[in-house]
Amino acid sequence: MFDRVLLDAHLCTMTEAGEGPLGIIRDGAVAAKDGRIAWVGPRADLPGPAATTTRCDGAWILPGLIDCHTHLVFGGDRAQEFEMRLEGATYEQVAKAGGGILSTVRATREASEDALVASALPRLDALLAEGVTTIEIKSGYGLDLATEARMLRAARRLGTQRDVRVVTSCLAAHATPPEYAGRRAEFARHVADAIIPAIAAEGLADAVDAFTDSQIAFTVEETGWVFDAARQAGLPVKLHADQLRDDGGAALAARFGALSADHIEYANAEGIAAMAKAGTVAVLLPGAYFVIRETHPPDLAAMRAAGLRLALSTDLNPGSSPVLSLLLMAHMGCTLFRLTVAEALLGITRHAATALGFRDRGVLAPGTRCDLALFAVTRPAELCYWLGRNPCVGRVVAGA
Ligand SMILES: [Zn+2]
Repeated sequence: MFDRVLLDAHLCTMTEAGEGPLGIIRDGAVAAKDGRIAWVGPRADLPGPAATTTRCDGAWILPGLIDCHTHLVFGGDRAQEFEMRLEGATYEQVAKAGGGILSTVRATREASEDALVASALPRLDALLAEGVTTIEIKSGYGLDLATEARMLRAARRLGTQRDVRVVTSCLAAHATPPEYAGRRAEFARHVADAIIPAIAAEGLADAVDAFTDSQIAFTVEETGWVFDAARQAGLPVKLHADQLRDDGGAALAARFGALSADHIEYANAEGIAAMAKAGTVAVLLPGAYFVIRETHPPDLAAMRAAGLRLALSTDLNPGSSPVLSLLLMAHMGCTLFRLTVAEALLGITRHAATALGFRDRGVLAPGTRCDLALFAVTRPAELCYWLGRNPCVGRVVAGA
């Protein structure tokens, strides 16, 4: 009757089907048919036979983890800049030595598609080893059409070289490239009028992202041009918002019905309320917060009071968040932002799925994709507790 059954396991369904906020079912079973979950519940109630039975030795089964915000594809790295800063170099000295985001832009423009795929694979593998089954990957280090398109093609190829679903976002409005120095608004127009339509016509992006920051990225008005272009192309939007100061990014994201507003350390109460009304997910990125030694945490109390859904992600990128572990982000979400264990684990499963617009994953429920992550832990809290331990002992993608 079923293609496969997994037994001898405890389940975090992330639904109301089980106990508590994680929807726990002890001594449960998951049955798969045609790549989807066909049945989930207590083992004693399992209805029928299966072609294959997998015994899980008492492991905990979660929905496959979802990393909903990464810049996984890029050329070079910034380890030298990291070293220079620790030796006392100033921001100007680092910039003069060719550092900062534009050094990644230069290295990415110089890299072939094959080179981008090859350098990204070990980073992807590190995330998959922890049970990630869906990952979002952004462009944003090309800042010209050819390189943005190459980054997105490389991201799509990663999804064919590994057993993982890759979702892509075009982040051409990430920074102003050197050839547009002093002409930021003109570049934002170029992104809206030329880059987004061309990327959309080639089907390279599943969404459009932008960075709103009045000092180092784009204004609310300029971001609006980019989002209008996304809307015309039929693509959903998401936003790097209010990371370093309150620029009204959360309200902007809500106004465009964004899937998510990400970072939002400085989002104001009105913006948070608007996000809740629009159904925009809050994506918290404790890795970047930690690496840049930010001290102003997101306003969790306001977000909880507004009923925002909270997701957590690595923000994997070569500058502010060279993070290769989603479980470490669950830990840091708890230690730095004071998330509960349940909030952290929902943030890398169910709410991360919503942040990407998916309704068919992130939970253990009949009809959803049978993407699973198996962990050798005695209780779910262990997934947030350890730093630097990988307890993942199995990964199932589309039932296989
Ligand atoms: Zn980011």
